[in-house]
Amino acid sequence: MSLAASEIRELFLRFFESRGHRRVASSSLVPAGDPTLLFTNAGMVQFKRTFLGQEVRDYKTATTSQKCMRVSGKHNDLENVGRTPRHLTFFEMLGNFSFGDYFKQEAIAWAWELVTGVYGLPREMLGVTVFREDDEAARIWSEEVGVPGDRIVRLDEADNFWSMGETGPCGPCSEIYFDMGPQPTSRPGFDPTDDSGRWLEIWNLVFMQYDRDGSGAMTPLPRPCVDTGAGLERMSAVLQGVSWIYDTDLFRPILTRAQELSGVAKGSDPEKDVSLNVVADHARALSFLISDGVLPSNEGRGYVLRRILRRAARHGVLLGVERPFLHGVADAVIDAMSPAFPELAERRAFITGRIRREEERFLETLTHGLGLLEDEIARLAERGERGLPGAVVFKLYDTFGFPVDLTEDILRGRGLTLDQAGFDAAMGEQRARARAAWKGSGDERTGAAYLALAGEHKTRFRGYDTLEARSNIAALLVGGESVAVANEGDDVEVIVDETPFYAESGGQVGDRGEIATPRGRVEVRDAQRPVGELVVHRGRVAQGSVRVEDLATLRVDADARAATVRNHSGTHLLHAALRSVLGPQAMQKGSLVAPDRLRFDFTHDAPVSGEEIERIEDLANQWIAANAPATVREMAYPDAIEAGAVAIFEEKYGDRVRVISFGGFSTELCGGTHARATGDIGLLKIIGESGIAAGVRRIEALTGHGALAHLRGQERTLESLSSLLRAPIGELTARVEKLLEEKRAAEQEVARLRAAQRGAASADLSSEAREVAGVKVISARVEGVSGKELRGMVDDLRGKLGSGVVLLAAVEDGRVSLALGVTPDLTDRFPAGQMITTVSGAVGGKGGGRPDFAQAGGSQPERLDDAFNRLEALLAAG
Ligand code: ATP
Ligand code: MG
Repeated sequence: MSLAASEIRELFLRFFESRGHRRVASSSLVPAGDPTLLFTNAGMVQFKRTFLGQEVRDYKTATTSQKCMRVSGKHNDLENVGRTPRHLTFFEMLGNFSFGDYFKQEAIAWAWELVTGVYGLPREMLGVTVFREDDEAARIWSEEVGVPGDRIVRLDEADNFWSMGETGPCGPCSEIYFDMGPQPTSRPGFDPTDDSGRWLEIWNLVFMQYDRDGSGAMTPLPRPCVDTGAGLERMSAVLQGVSWIYDTDLFRPILTRAQELSGVAKGSDPEKDVSLNVVADHARALSFLISDGVLPSNEGRGYVLRRILRRAARHGVLLGVERPFLHGVADAVIDAMSPAFPELAERRAFITGRIRREEERFLETLTHGLGLLEDEIARLAERGERGLPGAVVFKLYDTFGFPVDLTEDILRGRGLTLDQAGFDAAMGEQRARARAAWKGSGDERTGAAYLALAGEHKTRFRGYDTLEARSNIAALLVGGESVAVANEGDDVEVIVDETPFYAESGGQVGDRGEIATPRGRVEVRDAQRPVGELVVHRGRVAQGSVRVEDLATLRVDADARAATVRNHSGTHLLHAALRSVLGPQAMQKGSLVAPDRLRFDFTHDAPVSGEEIERIEDLANQWIAANAPATVREMAYPDAIEAGAVAIFEEKYGDRVRVISFGGFSTELCGGTHARATGDIGLLKIIGESGIAAGVRRIEALTGHGALAHLRGQERTLESLSSLLRAPIGELTARVEKLLEEKRAAEQEVARLRAAQRGAASADLSSEAREVAGVKVISARVEGVSGKELRGMVDDLRGKLGSGVVLLAAVEDGRVSLALGVTPDLTDRFPAGQMITTVSGAVGGKGGGRPDFAQAGGSQPERLDDAFNRLEALLAAG
């Protein structure tokens, strides 16, 4: 009997549930509040702070099936994907965790019971490893579980010692391997270091047992922990009797789709099999990443996503696919995986749309890059060289997303090579840049002072129920240093035991207000929670001084809070209305809730039309009018999701979550402060809609007094227009249209008059023609004519003269424009283009033109007479 992957997952979670573990949902692939980690890469990531003792949960043991990505850092399996039977970029890690509860004994016994008892794997097909010095684990395996001695192998640090970082919790591991059957190159017996592929690691048990300090010394942890990880896909391969992960039921429908779309059948060519596997793996990774809110971009996580997509598209090209097709494979991923991850189906159109667009872009750049590569190859041939410089390879890679192996393939086909060392150097530089860019984030928030304080203080938040509280001042920071007293004028951070101040989170800004003690008063402009449960009130000592241990009265600015509350509840209604009008792919990407405004960013592919905005606004205001009361419930995260609560990406949720609902229309996980009923919001008015990144839109809106003030402002503008235009507001449009019509008519009239004036001026001038050395000449300064119009006048006059020379000058803003025309019969003797140089030289200018017409500018209008004289001199000489 073979088990489906979904059963394998469920059996695992149930096994540990029945042993007292809390079933906790997978966290996002984007680690919450951990800028140092690119993607969640193991089940323990969401529990990191619990293991470190910085966060306490209301359970001591947990079990999860965690979405993982391994494409960076020391866990980078990207290059293995498709080529080894056991590596994926995206996979699910099944795990059980003990936070200072049970330890080695139970962890080992249960793992064995599940693997052999529940999953029914034969004992003789299994082998285990322990850390070289871990006699305890070796003893449990051998004496209590009964694993024969030749099936227990001791490995050293590199393989079987785990640590979170240089310092902190660490400890030995113990792994379980399955025998996939002898391979041509395999050695006899159980040998996990045999790399023939015979022994597959299916489960790793980590025993966090020590705390390592800066010097490398390890002291035993008072409450050791357990963290285990078993790959669902590997377990499925074993239980379904296949040797490759890709042959499990998790991949079958996805690979079927990839084969249909590419027209390439598996088994026809080993390299094509690799490409099909890569496409299947990457389509899963892309679907889950986009579903977790990562979008293609040029930095950080989005950049990794883009690279994965390009890699997949490149394998599509190797399969002979010429059109975008990954979105079709992603469709199959969504079908296959949404029973376990319903958010995929909900976001289907968005996920496939994003992939498709990015694929199209890539195919375009690919074509572009191919052109560039051809040029470079031609250049090599001209120079008689055979190696493509590393910098060019890098440019192709970096700018055009050209994988190096593709460049290499093409070059090889022409008998050329590439400069790998040069490429590596360019790549190294770029990595260093990327690392530098990645670091800076989040440092300030986890300053050492905060960490130290967070170890001692936990601030209780009372602000859901009250805006005023009395509490002792627990600590003060000035300039980041802990102090006993802060004096008037000091910028200070105040820490108390209990606070009514809401600390910024979930988009809602921190409260402002004041903290008063018998000796002084602090004006608080912001409240933040930099680590754990520590709230810091930031402000300035406005009066007197404040001391640690003083009893303080904390008062939140009630008006600002009320306005914030309206905006926050308004944001929830806006979010619900958006999803109702635009569809569930409109997912929150971020929000800002301040007293004076709200801003909501969400994923959506197209601008929101004016008509949609109106429907969204109408819906939200309908809900406001319904005056539905808020209900606030605390419940377990999975129950909240079950109840239809909308969870936000990149938000971190504890196991108990707070759920805010209004009527039947809005249910969200949210820790923020809210209105008692929707009617409190008063009015919601959208004042802006814009795109802030590819696939991300932003809506700005106002509520309550803010909305009213905004509408009043608009009204005032209309009123002043009305009085300026002397028309009632209702007639303003007609009035402005009429004015514009009149303006157009007036402009036409002006143009007509100017032409007439020019005509008249020309007529006057033509009567002023003189003769110089037998040549008819008109030369004059004309007024009220622009430089541009000069040319038309010169043409006119030339026509009137029949034979002769015309020089006109106009002065505008202290600059001279000259236009010189010569009739065709005289151009041989007096070429305008040459004469203009001499003439315009007189006014400090330069110019040029044809023999019959030339123009010039100049900067010395006072010397115009000289210019005219020069013309006469030229004619006289000619
Ligand atoms: P390997 O040496 O085979 O790459 P690992 O030592 O990196 O495995 P762990 O870090 O111990 O693996 O992860 C725990 C479990 O997660 C593994 O036992 C395995 O079942 C699974 N796993 C790890 N990496 C992958 C991957 N790239 N694809 C699929 N499953 C994986
Ligand atoms: Mg690995």
